[in-house]
Amino acid sequence: MENINFKQNKLFIEKISVEKLCKDYGTPLYVYSKKNLIEAFNRINDNLKKLDRLLCFSIKTCSNINIIKILKEQGAGCDIVSGGELYRALKAKVAPEKIVYAGVGKTAEEIEYALKSKILMFNCESIPEIELINKIAGKLKTTARIAIRVNPDVDAHTHSKITTGKKENKFGISIDIVADLYKNIKKKMKNIEIYGVHCHIGSQITEISPFEKALDKVLNLIDELEKCGISIKTLNLGGGLGIQYMPDKKPIDIKKYGQMVSSKLQNRKLKLILEPGRYIAGNSGVLLTKVIYVKETTVKKFAITDAAMNDLIRPTLYEAYHHIIPLKKSNKKEKYDIVGPVCESGDYFAKDRELPKVQSGDYLAILSAGAYGFSMSSNYNSRPRAAEILVDGNKSILIRKRETYQDLVKPEQI
Ligand SMILES: *Cc1c(COP(=O)(O)O)cnc(C)c1O
Repeated sequence: MENINFKQNKLFIEKISVEKLCKDYGTPLYVYSKKNLIEAFNRINDNLKKLDRLLCFSIKTCSNINIIKILKEQGAGCDIVSGGELYRALKAKVAPEKIVYAGVGKTAEEIEYALKSKILMFNCESIPEIELINKIAGKLKTTARIAIRVNPDVDAHTHSKITTGKKENKFGISIDIVADLYKNIKKKMKNIEIYGVHCHIGSQITEISPFEKALDKVLNLIDELEKCGISIKTLNLGGGLGIQYMPDKKPIDIKKYGQMVSSKLQNRKLKLILEPGRYIAGNSGVLLTKVIYVKETTVKKFAITDAAMNDLIRPTLYEAYHHIIPLKKSNKKEKYDIVGPVCESGDYFAKDRELPKVQSGDYLAILSAGAYGFSMSSNYNSRPRAAEILVDGNKSILIRKRETYQDLVKPEQI
């Protein structure tokens, strides 16, 4: 993460001391760097400048309205996967014609909400879904722009829980039958406007080749459709751009990605849509936590923190690595399991991690927590959700209040 650095032995996010943030706002605390969000967005954008393009931030990665607004100001649209996300995108004043909607289980209510909001298009994942969209568009006397989400059967070489473009995954429609489906839609579904082709093969992909294989397959499909008189306006290559989590592992080479995509699309009339999420938000956020106790057993040392799996579920859900830095330096090293207070053995951030020695009361920064961090957090064990802070230069802004006990029970009826 470029905007989180040590200066004179103290950790800073942009120009603010991380320790000061912990003391001012309390822990657990999510902190995002505005500069990092903008820089990551523009790294993708700048590497595609030869192309007609729309970058739709995948808001499930980091859904705070203030974060969406920052990216909107850079020109981003939104990739949404639910009615709730549409509501958020509209609250952030994202133009509806920059919103694309994916997901295998869109309900009739959600489809109607999206049509009435005049979003750019639906990325459709099944035949019954397309039939329902056609029916609802007819009822509303409008036409629905769609892309079919193609499942290209490409291995993204990523964790099995975040691979989405293989035949056995629930996502998309097999590329083998998609051409016939488009022809059928054109013939039979009057309220559907065929607009694009979509594919999203998975997340945290650090190699170019899976994207290239998927893109080649999709371009072949588009050529085949062209021959049958079906002209495609947009090609959506989804998200999936991988970031650096481990100090010795490399992120995707965004320059090479840009070159590969640009060379294949430069001489075509297609508009490119991308849906990056993790690449923009992942290394723009950290989770700060305080060590409550250090507990020693005969076999292990546990650093027990005030953050838990309900705040950041990635380690236990995806066996994900997050780099962890104690804010206080120490020359002595120890091995710890870093765990939260939740009543689950799966409640951990790291196992057997060597760290500078920590004590009760010390703060830890859990890095690369900006994507799929707060947005996947829950109230499990009746734990109020953490606060969210945005850092902008030497300013810090509270963008989500820490939840209270009253918040926990608010919707319950007694
Ligand atoms: C989750 C998702 C994305 C974002 O993926 P990242 O790996 O975070 O970039 C993009 N498109 C769709 C359809 C998704 O479901």
